[in-house]
Amino acid sequence: MAYDSNNIFAKILRGEIPCDKVFEDDHTLAFNDINPQAPVHVLVIPKGAYESMDDFHANASDAEIAALIRAVGEVARMTGVAETGYRILSNTGVDAHQEVPHLHIHVVGKRDLGGMIGRPRPS
Ligand code: 5GP
Repeated sequence: MAYDSNNIFAKILRGEIPCDKVFEDDHTLAFNDINPQAPVHVLVIPKGAYESMDDFHANASDAEIAALIRAVGEVARMTGVAETGYRILSNTGVDAHQEVPHLHIHVVGKRDLGGMIGRPRPS
């Protein structure tokens, strides 16, 4: 599937819509989720046009991959969840209910996050 340059995170990267920035470097931007599921809920995204983790894995440079993981660690420390515990997740594709087709890693914490995987959707 071709990257949709009109997705909401592409618009944030172009500065067309605002975000509450937490961290930025040459390859990565991190900002607070607009609908937080925990007291800390930050989205970490690559600046490159990657639709999903699968696309990123196949096509990103080693520098971009390293930067994304380092940004996750920076965000965890900046927000304090590195001390209290946190969860990272990246929804990829239909079964994971990925809503925005630009790779993003959720960093959530500052509450008890419960079990790892929610109930499946009803069939
Ligand atoms: P997904 O289900 O794709 O893994 O998660 C998409 C996330 O993006 C959701 O947690 C949603 O709240 C967040 N989101 C959607 N639109 C916006 C927006 O315009 N700004 C910000 N900061 N987050 C958004």
